Amino acid sequence: MIEIRDLSFSYGREKLFSQLNLSLRPGNICGLLGKNGAGKTTLLKLFAGLLFPQSGETRIMGLRPNDRSPVFLQELSFLPEEFSLPSVSPRKYERLYAPFYPRFKSELFSSYLAEFELDPNQNLDRCSFGQKKKFLLAFGLSTDCTLTLLDEPTNNLDIPSKRQFRKALASVLTEDRLIVISTHQARDLENLIDPIVILDEGQIIFNHPLEEISNRLCVRHQPDPPTADEVFYSEKTMEGYLVVAENTEHEETRLDLELLFNTVIQGRERLSRAFHKESEK
Ligand code: ADP
Repeated sequence: MIEIRDLSFSYGREKLFSQLNLSLRPGNICGLLGKNGAGKTTLLKLFAGLLFPQSGETRIMGLRPNDRSPVFLQELSFLPEEFSLPSVSPRKYERLYAPFYPRFKSELFSSYLAEFELDPNQNLDRCSFGQKKKFLLAFGLSTDCTLTLLDEPTNNLDIPSKRQFRKALASVLTEDRLIVISTHQARDLENLIDPIVILDEGQIIFNHPLEEISNRLCVRHQPDPPTADEVFYSEKTMEGYLVVAENTEHEETRLDLELLFNTVIQGRERLSRAFHKESEK
């Protein structure tokens, strides 16, 4: 669904991506993680054809995003982190914009508005930023687009809204759809995203499904400090040390996203060799 080869991109003279490669398949809610400024928003805009790469080959749903062709746009739903909305009600917005999406599901849209506690007839001008964001999520998920891009969707959402968002998202995935969610708040997307893609220093440094991650890595607590070459990552806790190591005993342990993120960022090279070794087996 998303195939990127040797993509380079810079804002002015500052090179952000150089020879970036990425392949993502449908049927997944992919989590794009990275520190602030890693380039997540830029990458999503490149997927959407809103920014143009300097070089490289980008094919999304078999099409070139920069052509911004109607067949591409009717299958793309993009929720940016920053947006402005017209001064209309959700109902009017639906009348204006739903016709661009051939499979738009009006009943589903109404049910999301109810779930998100949004008034279909209240002007969006009078909504808070979080309410506007929930409105756009409701609209975007109702388009039934093949590709959905969500940039930091949980920012500015309160705790109940985050729960509603997770519930809505979990119900829309089908085999032919791909949802890509960027975030620097890994915890909000726990148990929702798979595969995990990590962007750092202009490269995709990690792109693996959860199953492979749990086959490959295990987490344990131990009283004594580990030696550097026996673990990928460790942190000091009240009781001793929390360590992430190779899963040689096929243990089933739970590695949360924050711990995985820290492990990938710090143990990057050794980890990538270990995953490479695994994929060759
Ligand atoms: P992220 O979404 O991971 O926080 P961004 O894609 O927003 O990262 O930004 C990546 C880098 O590109 C940052 O260093 C940012 O300052 C820079 N950047 C983003 N937008 C622009 C722009 N319009 N002009 C110049 N630099 C930009």
